Amino acid sequence: MYIEELVVENFKSFAGTTRIPFYEDFTTISGPNGSGKSNIIDAILFALGLARTTGMRAETLTDLIYNPAHEGADGAAGPTEASVEVVLNNDAGVVSRSQVTTAAGSENVGSVDTITIKRRVKRTDDSHYSYYYLNDRSVNLADIQELLAQAGIAPEGYNVVMQGDVTGIINMTAGERREIIDEIAGVAEFDAKKRDAFEE
Ligand code: ATP
Ligand code: MG
Repeated sequence: MYIEELVVENFKSFAGTTRIPFYEDFTTISGPNGSGKSNIIDAILFALGLARTTGMRAETLTDLIYNPAHEGADGAAGPTEASVEVVLNNDAGVVSRSQVTTAAGSENVGSVDTITIKRRVKRTDDSHYSYYYLNDRSVNLADIQELLAQAGIAPEGYNVVMQGDVTGIINMTAGERREIIDEIAGVAEFDAKKRDAFEE
């Protein structure tokens, strides 16, 4: 399973709708400083519910909505809503149809060769709302997390390695580094279950 495309709408520096294609094996994104490379990663973290706002370099979710003030347009009213859709290629069938219908709470999810996960954030006068969708069905974050776990993607996992993480990993003790390897290899889960079993 891999990300085929991102559809980014009014998210951070991306005004309007931007479709960003990804290759199956390896995609690099290059561009000048401040051009929005990291914002693309933030968009993925946002849509998949993998990070808190600080992890996306924002104070609140509304900071993620495109704001013309960033480009010096003081006072210009920006959009009140942002969204990001992650289009996952599931041709290999890593996630089964029943896993998708269970997470979506509906049989009506279309073809699961493509799985789309979308999140919207909407600003109101005094607050904001956030909504998740799985193949266009309205779902909760927990449903998304359950589905992503089937594909080995977890918020506490190392699917996304942020800029500071690399030095963090280098500076760890051997024991701490071992824990990360256990986590990636999927062994850590069993360690936790073993610990729970002993405690019972
Ligand atoms: P670097 O090479 O320095 O890491 P980058 O390509 O990763 O740069 P980003 O951090 O993705 O750049 O983008 C930063 C830009 O995004 C800044 O110019 C900032 O003003 C803009 N930006 C962030 N949030 C918003 C927003 N809500 N509305 C408009 N622009 C925004
Ligand atoms: Mg960056």
